[in-house]
Amino acid sequence: MSVIFHAGISGARGRMGRAVSAVLDAREDVVVAARFDRGETPDLSLCDVIIDFSTPDASVELARTCSERGGPALVIGSTGLTPEQETDIHKAADRIAIVRSGNFSLGVNILIGLVEHAAQRLDAADWDIEVLETHHRRKADAPSGTALMLGEAAANGRDVDLADVRSAPYDGITGERETGRIGFASLRAGGVIGEHTVLFASEDETLTLSHSAIDRSLFARGAVAAAAWVRSRKPGLYDMQDVLGFRQ
Ligand code: NAP
Repeated sequence: MSVIFHAGISGARGRMGRAVSAVLDAREDVVVAARFDRGETPDLSLCDVIIDFSTPDASVELARTCSERGGPALVIGSTGLTPEQETDIHKAADRIAIVRSGNFSLGVNILIGLVEHAAQRLDAADWDIEVLETHHRRKADAPSGTALMLGEAAANGRDVDLADVRSAPYDGITGERETGRIGFASLRAGGVIGEHTVLFASEDETLTLSHSAIDRSLFARGAVAAAAWVRSRKPGLYDMQDVLGFRQ
């Protein structure tokens, strides 16, 4: 079988890095040319694309380095980036192709479309939206990147900016819930890989849209599919909706 691309893995010894390694090592048509972690300097010239699940700082640094040298392409899965770090990734994508997603699963990317569709049709005056997520105890950021993507999908459906309607976490004497707000709640417990629920609730009924990740390898497989897709794209910032062909 001929080799279709050479991959690098950033954050290789982490939970996701190991899952990506397992998926790539099982493929005969991909060569893993570099695996690296904090403090290690990879030979980027060996890679067509790097799959990065590390930290926000590390992802921004890697994007900057790859952009300055005009490659390789990147698949970035790290979550919890600040708005400034998001801007840095946008800038890097002027010179290289980057797929960035808070969630590489097919199911979640379908859920995003369903949430947008529901939010568009359920009047904000009557329907409250809350996004609930549960993750393992070691997760560093909250709400999860996926919860924020779901919140953004709901805000898009309502034709508003999430930043303008995002609720502060409920704690203490909060007063009445404000109409039109989108709320987030996070649980951290044990080894839960990732559970997300978007609750639409009116005075008379509730609609619940949910996704559960059963095995971390699902994100790794999605990231590898993104790597195969992005290596031949022109510079730009893409997401899984592009990779899956949901956005024309
Ligand atoms: P993890 O187990 O802590 O792994 C992170 C790895 O990155 C560690 O091996 C760490 O090394 C390494 N690292 C730190 N700085 C680095 C640098 N400068 N260069 C290269 N590697 C570096 O975390 P995880 O559970 O794999 O998650 C990683 C990220 O992916 C998180 O932001 C998480 O939220 C996100 N995630 C995204 C998805 C998705 O679908 N988008 C799915 C799951 C997780 P040290 O231990 O030496 O610091």
